[in-house]
Amino acid sequence: MLEAKLQNFVENEIQCRCCGKLIVNHEALICLQAFRYFLNRKFNRNTRITPTCGTRCCQHNIDVGGAKGSKHLTGQAFDLTSPDISYKQLFEAAVESRLFSTVIRYDKSLFVHVDTGKRKNYAVVSWIWDK
Ligand SMILES: [Zn+2]
Ligand SMILES: [Zn+2]
Repeated sequence: MLEAKLQNFVENEIQCRCCGKLIVNHEALICLQAFRYFLNRKFNRNTRITPTCGTRCCQHNIDVGGAKGSKHLTGQAFDLTSPDISYKQLFEAAVESRLFSTVIRYDKSLFVHVDTGKRKNYAVVSWIWDK
């Protein structure tokens, strides 16, 4: 298989926070890196992304109150913040990019969840949660 290196992300940013488990989902990682490039062009400057969560093992998903079918369990989801733009700008850009099938804004925790779980007709679904 032809493989490419991710320019802006390293393993320990997306490993399970409790045990270091890492599920490499190539599609999700390619979309994450593409989103990073998208942000650079959208804001005309280097726009960093800080993943606060990537892969979760089953126990960690339970510990943080994740959904039963969470895409974090399959390496398809990332929770993101940015030191360069607000979480609201990050949310709008993630929806606009159409790189992720699900984009969720958490207005109390101040981060954005993105994932590449399959949806019919490649739909993009986004919403805002008061949590
Ligand atoms: Zn773990
Ligand atoms: Zn998440």
